[in-house]
Amino acid sequence: MNFEEKLQQYAKLVARCGVNVEPGQDVVLRCPVVCQDFARMIVKELYEAGAREVIVHWNDDQIARMRYDYAPMEVFEDFPQWRVDSLLMYAKKDAAFISITGTDPEAFKGVSPEKMTAAGRASDKANKEFYDMMLCSQFKWNVSAVPSEAWAKKVFPDVPVEEAVKKLWEAIFNTLRIGEGDAVERWLEHGRILNEKCRMLNAYQFDSLHYKNSIGTDFTVGLVKNHRWEGGSDTAANGIKYFANMPTEEVFTMPDRMRADGKLVSALPLCYEGNLIKNFELTFENGKVVDFKAEEGSDVLERMLNMDEGAAYLGEAALVPCTSPVAQQNILFYNTLFDENASCHFALGACYPTNLLGGADLSDDELKARGGNISMNHVDFMVGTKDLSVTGKTADGREVQIFKDGVWAI
Ligand code: ZN
Ligand code: ZN
Repeated sequence: MNFEEKLQQYAKLVARCGVNVEPGQDVVLRCPVVCQDFARMIVKELYEAGAREVIVHWNDDQIARMRYDYAPMEVFEDFPQWRVDSLLMYAKKDAAFISITGTDPEAFKGVSPEKMTAAGRASDKANKEFYDMMLCSQFKWNVSAVPSEAWAKKVFPDVPVEEAVKKLWEAIFNTLRIGEGDAVERWLEHGRILNEKCRMLNAYQFDSLHYKNSIGTDFTVGLVKNHRWEGGSDTAANGIKYFANMPTEEVFTMPDRMRADGKLVSALPLCYEGNLIKNFELTFENGKVVDFKAEEGSDVLERMLNMDEGAAYLGEAALVPCTSPVAQQNILFYNTLFDENASCHFALGACYPTNLLGGADLSDDELKARGGNISMNHVDFMVGTKDLSVTGKTADGREVQIFKDGVWAI
């Protein structure tokens, strides 16, 4: 398959599997201006699959950066209602949402942290209804990635920029199983395998998981009662399946907000708001991060943990074998969409309500009472190594090895 054919397969994958667009449905596409060529291909695929209207919201890293550098603080404390409506109105009409990421991982390096925090808070607060709907799969959504020059150069700093972009495209195609046969069919089969892992884990209903490896992770996390493992495709409120992330290699569930103890050591750097946090470790007591250390980006980590009350508690526990196609690329993508699919991870911040049986119908307070975590943040960080073992413990004390040497043991 040549490059153009692979690209075409990718656009088809996003439209047909990612949001699985239905005839007559509206789709909102959010995309950086540097990805205009691929955006056009997706839009065409969407219309050909029967979309009623595709609404495109363009964004640009450099302009966003200028706004942070020049605009006064008050600009970031306010989030206008029309921008909320530009998403919420379509969400309520059962539109599907596609976000293309591909931005420079260090686009916002050095920006005033006060402005970034204010902007994040204002946006999260104003868009709460939209994000709540999203977390509960009220509508279909998908995040996919396209290489920008800045991103490619960050991943492959030692080669000329055109070559870096090409290499990043190929890496992305590999992670998406594009290159042989029909990508849509291969992707659906992959989704079925992940669904099967979830079915097995759900049957065990583990009370807690214990993580251990040679770089210092020794950690026990409780899982909420009636938790659900999810992975592969999601099912939206209208009953239609979709893939929220592409690639996806994880199965994930809801940790108990109040039951996490021990130490987690990072296996990969974390990119948060355009800043890198490297070689860090987190110590938990009764669910909360009570101590942390980072070789680089300690101040960013501290800001992240203090974003709000829930930001220092876990909201997601995810299992990914270290042999996944993403891990096999052997590169740091500096993009959570990829890096989280190379390694077992946790997320600090908001839980996914759908990881609890009936969770989507609960209020924030009810969710919290059941062990779910509420936060404006949701930040994945990687802990999976080639020697990681994960052992599950059932409510009656039975121990089952789930991961051994970084891969599935069940
Ligand atoms: Zn995850
Ligand atoms: Zn996550």
